[in-house]
Amino acid sequence: MRFILPVGLIATTLAIAPVRFDGEKVLRVKLQDEKQANIIKDLAQTNQLDFWYPDAAHHVAANMTIDFRVSEKESQSIQSSLDQNKMHYEILIHDLQEEIEKQFDVKEDIPGRHSYAKYNNWDKIVAWTEKMVHKHPEMVSRIKIGTTVEDNPLYVLKIGKRDERRKAIFMDCGIHAREWISPAFCQWFVYQAAKTYGKNKIMTKLLDRMNFYVLPVFNVDGYIWSWTQNRMWRKNRSKNQNSNCIGTDLNRNFNASWNSFLNTKDPCAETYRGPEPESEKETKAVTDFIRSHLKSIKAYITFHSYSQMLLFPYGYTSKLPPNYKDLAKVAKIGTDVLSTRYETHYIYGPIASTIYPTSGSSLDWAYNLGIKHTFAFELRDKGKFCFLLPESQIKPTCKETLLAVKFIAKYILKHTS
Ligand SMILES: [Zn+2]
Repeated sequence: MRFILPVGLIATTLAIAPVRFDGEKVLRVKLQDEKQANIIKDLAQTNQLDFWYPDAAHHVAANMTIDFRVSEKESQSIQSSLDQNKMHYEILIHDLQEEIEKQFDVKEDIPGRHSYAKYNNWDKIVAWTEKMVHKHPEMVSRIKIGTTVEDNPLYVLKIGKRDERRKAIFMDCGIHAREWISPAFCQWFVYQAAKTYGKNKIMTKLLDRMNFYVLPVFNVDGYIWSWTQNRMWRKNRSKNQNSNCIGTDLNRNFNASWNSFLNTKDPCAETYRGPEPESEKETKAVTDFIRSHLKSIKAYITFHSYSQMLLFPYGYTSKLPPNYKDLAKVAKIGTDVLSTRYETHYIYGPIASTIYPTSGSSLDWAYNLGIKHTFAFELRDKGKFCFLLPESQIKPTCKETLLAVKFIAKYILKHTS
């Protein structure tokens, strides 16, 4: 027995040991021209570059400022290539593992308890959904809209009085697993909505007249994986046929120009679109829910990070949407309102021209379905901590974002029929 136990322990430890990122770097490169963009694309062919901005080498273009993660082993040769070609770059993150540990910079009030000031794992979020319903039975209800590939429940919280005929806004967070600030915002929104109803004038008016459907974690399996195995995980966790690579990018899996970009075809790509539109259980659950509530849903808002942008359609074409002026006006005022709290600067505009072109996104899909006010937030920051925004920034981020969301909701209440 004395020999068996340690071996068993080692095996268990190996099986569950999360990926470590010791010495990994995140580089920011300011590309001057086409030639430099091509150098990066070439480097991406021969090295394991994880693109943080834009989200794939395919979108790298002249005059863009790009961020990517590189292993400790490859960083030396990458940096010398950049130096040789006289390219401007800075090291945003020197040791990714250190940064991962540093994001937990808020002390727990009560160990193990859900907290709005901290990142919460999936188990805490599930328990929190129950608590919200229990605490505010008149205002909050929980709807199971489906299950994930790994059979986890997909919960939408409905906030508002129980009248189906009213206007509604659908919001989702955490479609990309590693963007942890996003689910944190959805939890904050539900909490603030329920807590300030009857006290805050705007929130009371909103909830008296409309409902909010909030999906706090869209990509549950990926989110769990980002907590337990790989902090940098983005996609869902479905197995791919004829490939060892796992996962589909759920935000490329919607039926909106799904087939148009070549770089989404490879199951090993971070932006893999899946075998067909809505092939993923998570996407299907959301699209079915939205389709069946289409009469009431007047706006769709999705939350990502990072880069501080408020985006609207289209992603798959540079054509402007028919109500461009209206969307731009809402986005302008929304970002202005957001900045009033801490002077956080956001830019806004159509996805394709403001961030980079995307196909199969939830935003374009919802817009084409007939929801004429669709927005995507890219929350804090602009590239200091990137996906590893410290917990001490959760509350400020949530507070400023809530101002913008309340403004959008107020606008929807007044200007949609
Ligand atoms: Zn994202």
